[in-house]
Amino acid sequence: MNFALSPELEELQGTVRRIAREKVKPRAREIDEQDEYPEDLFEIFAKAGLFGLVIDEEHGGSGAGITGLTLAIEEVAKYSQAAALLLLLSRLPTGPLLIGGTSAQKHRYLPGIAAGTSRAAFGLSEPQAGSDVMGQSTVAVRDNDHYVLSGQKCWMSGVTVADWYVVHAKLHEGSHRDHKQTVALIVEREWDGVTVGNTDHKMGVRGVATGELLLDQVRVPLENRIGEEGGGFSVFMQGLNAMRPIVAARGIGLAEGALMYAVEYAKERTAFGQPLAHFQGLQWMMAEIAAEIEACRLLTYRAAWMSDRGEYGKNHAPFLSMAKWMATELAVKASDVCLQVLGAAGYMKDHMTELYYRDARQLTIVEGTTQIQKGLVADGLFRGDVWWD
Ligand SMILES: Cc1cc2nc3c(=O)[nH]c(=O)nc-3n(C[C@H](O)[C@H](O)[C@H](O)COP(=O)(O)OP(=O)(O)OC[C@H]3O[C@@H](n4cnc5c(N)ncnc54)[C@H](O)[C@@H]3O)c2cc1C
Repeated sequence: MNFALSPELEELQGTVRRIAREKVKPRAREIDEQDEYPEDLFEIFAKAGLFGLVIDEEHGGSGAGITGLTLAIEEVAKYSQAAALLLLLSRLPTGPLLIGGTSAQKHRYLPGIAAGTSRAAFGLSEPQAGSDVMGQSTVAVRDNDHYVLSGQKCWMSGVTVADWYVVHAKLHEGSHRDHKQTVALIVEREWDGVTVGNTDHKMGVRGVATGELLLDQVRVPLENRIGEEGGGFSVFMQGLNAMRPIVAARGIGLAEGALMYAVEYAKERTAFGQPLAHFQGLQWMMAEIAAEIEACRLLTYRAAWMSDRGEYGKNHAPFLSMAKWMATELAVKASDVCLQVLGAAGYMKDHMTELYYRDARQLTIVEGTTQIQKGLVADGLFRGDVWWD
C-alpha cells in the first residue's frame, strides 16, 4: 500500500495550487456577481494544459488521467466552483467518447478539448426526466446512414459555450424503458436543427451557464454514434461512474476552502475577551469537518485510482458512488458550519462563506443525486459487491 502521490502528480498538484491561489481566488467573487463566463481562467487553464489531463497523449492530452484531474479540481474548488466546473467539463462530455468512441471520433473531437480550442457539454437530463433516465423522450430514429434526432435537453452545464454535445436518446418514440434501445450521439452546434434554448437562473455556481439544448430533426451521421446502436445508456452510465471522483473533488475542495477560511477568521475575531478559536464548541465543529475531509479524500483518491484502472463497471460502481455521495454531502455540511463560525459576517457577501454555502448545494444534485448514489451502494451491498468477508 502506498499513500504517496507520484512525483508527476505532486508537481501537478503544486502547479494547480499556485494557479488556484494566484488566479482563481481573486476572481471568485467577481465571477459570481457578474455571472459571466470566466474566459480569462479558461485561457489560463488551457495554457497550463489542464483540459488535457484526462485525455491521452495520442489525442493531445497529457494522460494524467482521472487522478490528475481529480487533484487539479480539488485545488481549484477551494476558491471557485464555477472554475472547477469549467475544468470538469473537460471530462463530463468526453467520458462516453473516451470509453466507447472510435479512433476517428477521438481524433476529431478530443485534441480541441485538450488544447482548449473547443468545448463540449453533456446532454442527459430532460425536463421530465433527471434521475429517471429512461423516462426521457428525446428520440433518434435511424434513417439509413443517419439518425434523425429530436428532443429537449435541459440544465446542461456549459451549453452556451459548447461547440459540440454528447446526447443520449432513445431509438424509438414512446414510453418504453428498454436500456438497450438507446444511443449516444455526438452533435455539433452548427448543424441544422440544433439550438441553445433558455438558460437558468441559478442560486450558485454562477458564471458557467446551464440551460436547454433543443434538437429539431437533426441529421446525425452514423459515424457520430458512440459505441453500438443500443449501447447509449451503458456508455453514458460508465462515463458517469468513472468520473464520480472528479465531482467528489469539487466537494472536498470546497470543504477545504471553507474550513481554511473559517479557521483564519476564528483566529482573528474575538468574543468574551478571547479569539473565537479558543471556544471548544467551535473547535469541535471544525475538527469534525477536518476529519471528514480527510476521510472523503481517501475515498475520492481511491475512487480515482480505481477509475484509472478501468474499474468503473457495475461491481465497482458502489465504491465510486460512496466518494461522490460522501464528499458532496460534506461540502454542504462544511459550508454550513463555516458560515456559522463567522456569525453575521458569514451571512454577508463581504465573506466567501455565503458563496460556498450557495455553491455547495448544487453538488448533491448533479451527476446523480445523493439518493441515487445511496441506491447504487445499497444495490452493491445486496448483490455482494460491497462485502468484507
Ligand atoms: C447546476 C446544475 C447543473 C447540471 N448540469 C447538467 C448537465 O450538464 N447535463 C445534464 O444532463 N444534467 C445536468 N444537470 C441535471 C442533474 O443531473 C439532475 O438535476 C439530476 O440528475 C437529478 O434529476 P432531477 O433534478 O430531475 O431530480 P429528480 O430525478 O426529479 O429527483 C427529485 C428528488 O427525488 C429523488 N429521487 C429520484 N429518484 C429517486 C429514487 N429512485 N429513490 C430515492 N430518491 C429518488 C432525488 O434524489 C431528488 O431528491 C444539472 C443540474 C444542476 C442543478
